[in-house]
Amino acid sequence: MRRCPYLEELVKERQLMLRVYKFDCHVDHRSKRKYALSDSPPICVRNFEDCPLYQAEKGREDRTITRYTD
Ligand code: SF4
Repeated sequence: MRRCPYLEELVKERQLMLRVYKFDCHVDHRSKRKYALSDSPPICVRNFEDCPLYQAEKGREDRTITRYTD
């Protein structure tokens, strides 16, 4: 499974009819929840390159690496 490098933890639970995805993001240090009726994992384990938080943090890291290698 592809997963965002900034994903700290992902837990999937069931509550009645719902799937509950609990996940922690290293970028904004927040614990988040996503509720879905069918299997629908968060962006962190799908197309995480489209996440604005991922893009911002990756850009910041790339700029830092460029500074050290120049
Ligand atoms: S995909 Fe976005 S929200 Fe999910 S862990 Fe990565 S940066 Fe955080």
